[in-house]
Amino acid sequence: MMVVMSLTRAEAADRAATVDVHEYEVHLDVTAEGDTFGSRTAVRFDARPEASTFLEFEPVSVESMTLNGVEVPASAVGGGRLRLSGLASSNELVVSATMRYSNTGEGLHRYVDPGDGNVYLYQHLFINNAGRVLPAFDQPDLKASFKVSVSAPASWTVAANGQRVSRSGGVWQFAPTKRISTYLATLFAGPFHAVTDEHDGIPLALYVRAALAEHLDEQAEELFTITKQCLDRYHEMFDIRYPFGHYQQAFAPEFNFGAMEYPGLVIFRDEMIYRSAVTESQREGRANVIAHEMAHMWFGDLVTMAWWDDLWLNESFAEYLGTRVASEATRFKGTWTTFAMQRKAWGLRADQHPSTHPVAPVSVADTDEALMNFDGISYAKGAATLKQLVAWVGDEAFRAGLNAHFAAHAYGNATLADLLAQLAKASGRELSAWAEVWLRRAQVNTLRTSIGPDGSVSVLQTAPTGYPTLRPHRIGIGLYDRLPDGTVARRSLIEAEIEPSPSTNIPEISGKSDLVLLNDGDLTYAKIRLDEASNTAVPSLLPLIGDSLARAVLWAATLDAVVDGERPVAELVTLVLAALPVESEVVIVEDVLRATRSLVDRYSTPETRPAALELVAQAADRLLAASEPGGSRQLAAARGFIGATAEVARLRGWLAGSGVPDGLAIDLDLRWLILYRLVVLGAAGRAEIDAEFERDLSATGEQWAARCRAAVPDAASKAAAWHAIVEDVSLSNRLVEMTATGFWQPEQLDLLAPYVPRYFADMPAMMRIRTGMSAERTVGLAYPDVVVEPETRRLAAELLAREDLDPILRRVVRDADDDMRKALAAHF
Ligand SMILES: [Zn+2]
Repeated sequence: MMVVMSLTRAEAADRAATVDVHEYEVHLDVTAEGDTFGSRTAVRFDARPEASTFLEFEPVSVESMTLNGVEVPASAVGGGRLRLSGLASSNELVVSATMRYSNTGEGLHRYVDPGDGNVYLYQHLFINNAGRVLPAFDQPDLKASFKVSVSAPASWTVAANGQRVSRSGGVWQFAPTKRISTYLATLFAGPFHAVTDEHDGIPLALYVRAALAEHLDEQAEELFTITKQCLDRYHEMFDIRYPFGHYQQAFAPEFNFGAMEYPGLVIFRDEMIYRSAVTESQREGRANVIAHEMAHMWFGDLVTMAWWDDLWLNESFAEYLGTRVASEATRFKGTWTTFAMQRKAWGLRADQHPSTHPVAPVSVADTDEALMNFDGISYAKGAATLKQLVAWVGDEAFRAGLNAHFAAHAYGNATLADLLAQLAKASGRELSAWAEVWLRRAQVNTLRTSIGPDGSVSVLQTAPTGYPTLRPHRIGIGLYDRLPDGTVARRSLIEAEIEPSPSTNIPEISGKSDLVLLNDGDLTYAKIRLDEASNTAVPSLLPLIGDSLARAVLWAATLDAVVDGERPVAELVTLVLAALPVESEVVIVEDVLRATRSLVDRYSTPETRPAALELVAQAADRLLAASEPGGSRQLAAARGFIGATAEVARLRGWLAGSGVPDGLAIDLDLRWLILYRLVVLGAAGRAEIDAEFERDLSATGEQWAARCRAAVPDAASKAAAWHAIVEDVSLSNRLVEMTATGFWQPEQLDLLAPYVPRYFADMPAMMRIRTGMSAERTVGLAYPDVVVEPETRRLAAELLAREDLDPILRRVVRDADDDMRKALAAHF
């Protein structure tokens, strides 16, 4: 595998001072069979006369290469770069080359549908993969217009950022784009199915693999409705209208992210076109992603960060605005509950890892570091911080500041300082002190209620070791009482400003309450701990609180206390058994079941785990019995039950169609979930997996089969799966991920013991055969996190002591080992 240099911040700054790029005229030829394609590019750019520079470029072979009509020697290409010297003030570089498709979701990804043999391509250049498709100045602040044409097989359709201007003889020609960053250039090609519409003068389109055509047809109305509602809402909020012409949304196979915000052509992972029953919270999640990517059209695409240290400017804003706009404009009103429950847990987890970093790091050294910062901090913590900022400056000033920011930097780049200047001007508040503690400092504070003997309430604030910053918080405090009729009511909701000091007195609170809930309404970003009396009241009060956001805040605090070892996992399981069967909010049901399952796997011992898991299964079973037939809660409960139960006969019955709860459809994906559980329990094997794949010969079927095969509890299956994870580069990103997901099972610890040392021995070599996100995912998913033993930690320490360790591997292992430290501490 070619070793490609990561672009450093210094190199990027130097290059931005050297060149000014105008246009990439790109022609791709994807007509040939095989694993390569043709790429002919003309790059037109100005430069400082006589200067030298380089472009990112990773060809298989170069057919011709000229700069201003003069041949460039082949020796100019190497190490992923094309070096140029003796530049003129105005330049044209013309290169014809052969490039390689990828199967890792980077560059031009090629996919063959196992059901019908159709081939699909999509282009994903983020974060530094432009050189896999064309020679490019691949950094966010060298924007240019892309003028793209593609030669494709006759039966295909091709879509790109720009609008199509012609199609003749298999050649598709697209209009030049406005000035965009290189990482935002995309295309989607293949014999795909399209549905079109129009809204407010904006042409709309949806694309999907032919195999999913009927499902897209059925879901198009919902997708278009959400798209239109979000467009309208952004047009109300922002002075600048949607700037990129048409709004196409493609659903592509084996996409690494949930979706990506290419101007004019958003690409989603195609699991988002559903082929089996899904819950309302999954549909809400999809609406949220639509709103998120649309927010990027302004934040990221129209105004782009100058360098990756402001990656958060893209992601935090898109996460905040997506959550907000989905709840304001679509039928999904509960997105902030999901945010409190699910997204913030992701942010908190990343923020407490050894690899924590500020939301807005002062400096990100290179693209490798930038890729690793693409985490819960940049998304969820950043968005929670913005929510706090809006509470701080007020919504009107916030929006005025954003609009001024867009007006000042449209089609250009901007930094955190630029944005803060506009927000400070609009709000009349000095924001540098706020930004310093919230954006420039890592880690999280804990807010704790303290109730004095006289009933007076204070909020105690603490900071973790090594990160002494205390922060100002604006929060809600909810006071809940049990009423004589057995119900629970919020007596009052107080808004309070918590000072950046160890204790803030809250004089507005008087009289005793059964439960005092800090951060009610979820305005701030902090770990929340209740006073002892409130804690004691949680099991009986939590199910009766009417506000789902308040319940989410309470559940999140409860789960977090277990993660920190302050409360035993057994207590959590008891609470789940009592409170979950009456929980009405689907996202809470799903998330509590998922988080509890994960905590039971890692925080109970091999001796106590089966009984704990049985109680989780019982909780899900009770909820199943209490759910309305055919509803989301029933489906969420059924999935939770299947994932935790050891009742083989009942699962077998469901597969055969007997004893199935009324209204529950045992469709393709639920069949796979049941089979997967049977495989984990040793009650089904390879023959049944093969038979199920025959029955569901599809992309999803192929992924489920890979996951199930890795879970088969025999030595040969584990050996084959491990080989696939650490050595097989013919497998795509998604199939490797699915194999790694199925591999480690707490039910199979004896069989898996030899693979703990193998992980630490094999991963350094694995890092050399996989790249970027695919490598990072594989290292994380293959980690033996269910083998919670001192020996696992010893092996991790041994690996971390090596000086030649790949930085991505080091970071993943260090964080995973820290999780294990906490879990192990809870065992004793
Ligand atoms: Zn995003």
